[in-house]
Amino acid sequence: MILDKLKEECGVIGIYSDDEKITSQNIYYGLNAIQHRGQESAGILMNKNCSIKYYKEMGLVQDIFKEKILKDLCGKIGIGHVRYSTTGESLINNAQPLSIDYKDKTLGLAHNGNLINTKEIRDELEKEGCLFKTTIDSELIGILINKYTKDNIVEGIRRTMEKIKGAYALVITCEDKLIGVRDPHGLRPLVLGKNENGYILGSESCALNVLGADIVRNINPGEIVIIKGNEIESYNFTDEKSALCSFEFVYFARPDSEIDNQSVYMSRLNAGKILARECSVEADLVVDVPDSGRIAAMGYSQESNIPFAEGLIKNRYVGRTFIEPTQERRDMKVQLKLNPLKKIIEGKRIILVDDSIVRGTTMKNIVALLKKSGAREVHIRISSPSVKHSCFFGIDTPDESRLIGANNSVDNIRKIIGADSLAYLSIDGLKEACGDSNLNLCTACFNGNYPMEIGN
Ligand code: SF4
Repeated sequence: MILDKLKEECGVIGIYSDDEKITSQNIYYGLNAIQHRGQESAGILMNKNCSIKYYKEMGLVQDIFKEKILKDLCGKIGIGHVRYSTTGESLINNAQPLSIDYKDKTLGLAHNGNLINTKEIRDELEKEGCLFKTTIDSELIGILINKYTKDNIVEGIRRTMEKIKGAYALVITCEDKLIGVRDPHGLRPLVLGKNENGYILGSESCALNVLGADIVRNINPGEIVIIKGNEIESYNFTDEKSALCSFEFVYFARPDSEIDNQSVYMSRLNAGKILARECSVEADLVVDVPDSGRIAAMGYSQESNIPFAEGLIKNRYVGRTFIEPTQERRDMKVQLKLNPLKKIIEGKRIILVDDSIVRGTTMKNIVALLKKSGAREVHIRISSPSVKHSCFFGIDTPDESRLIGANNSVDNIRKIIGADSLAYLSIDGLKEACGDSNLNLCTACFNGNYPMEIGN
């Protein structure tokens, strides 16, 4: 369901391959696998014998990269990016990967995440006479790395990591290297894999699976990995507590991915089961909001022994919807995307499961649709805690004033959306669902406990 969700961030991939003819093609396949992480623009940057060439466009990966373009992008090392803009405007200029020059140095960089001290760094670099090609924080990271790298790239990245604050998973290419970097809290994921042609870095394991790669391991929070041919060097620079984004498990990541060794699918199924234990209610059917609530709804059904049914059918081919002048027309948008199955719903007490409520507008319309179709009762169960705070780490959250959970009690929200009952998964329940009590998660959008001080 795409109407009322936090928006995904970006996705990155990097490949070091022994066959320079297939590298860009494999990046293309990998980017397709992580297309869900950003649909505004995509790009591929190749490093052939230390010479950089790239192609990027607004739009979807499969529309941008034709065979001829991929053939022209040659080299053993390449990086790719899909973007949803969280800082900087949605312009081709801000599309990634970036090729960044500073004095005599050039590097290619793709970034997933968001810095929180961008203004301070930009002001400082501006004073030094730096000219920027983009309005995004990712460019500042590349400039700092180039600036701090004298003879040693690891030292350049380490000094940059000391300077920048926020969330970042980076794939970088310079000289004859592919480099992966994860921020000291590990807010954004980055995983290393290997197939018969070489090494692959990616935001999610599904991008590695599609290339027939075995997962080697996750890049650790605060780690820099340098890949050169078959050699890998690793450097660790953190004493911070890790804080992987819990929303990766709730909604962002593909269910067939594993993030920091946790199956996203199992975490969603578990979330549904725990939700059934924490907030049971008598009902006839468990229905999902497709597709975001599907796996948790199945978990809820398994745990409660209340049958699961598809009560809402999603139209997958709705094109652009327009800004509608009246509320009635705006409400129609939900019906364009979801059609209730009257025969299933009529006369039934429904437990409707979704992964989150952000503004509440969509859920209100869905409840109204179900009731109009004859549902006797509609009980909403949400497989994550209530979203009450903005994210500063690369996830597009509305201003707190527009988050229904930030401004209303649970009972108020229930009244606003017109449900018979409403309950959310607890924060402890979410952690338990992710299967490992040692897995430190960021839960700041639920409880305001940010893993670092939020500055400008
Ligand atoms: S605040 Fe929420 S969305 Fe942002 S990183 Fe933390 S858990 Fe993820």
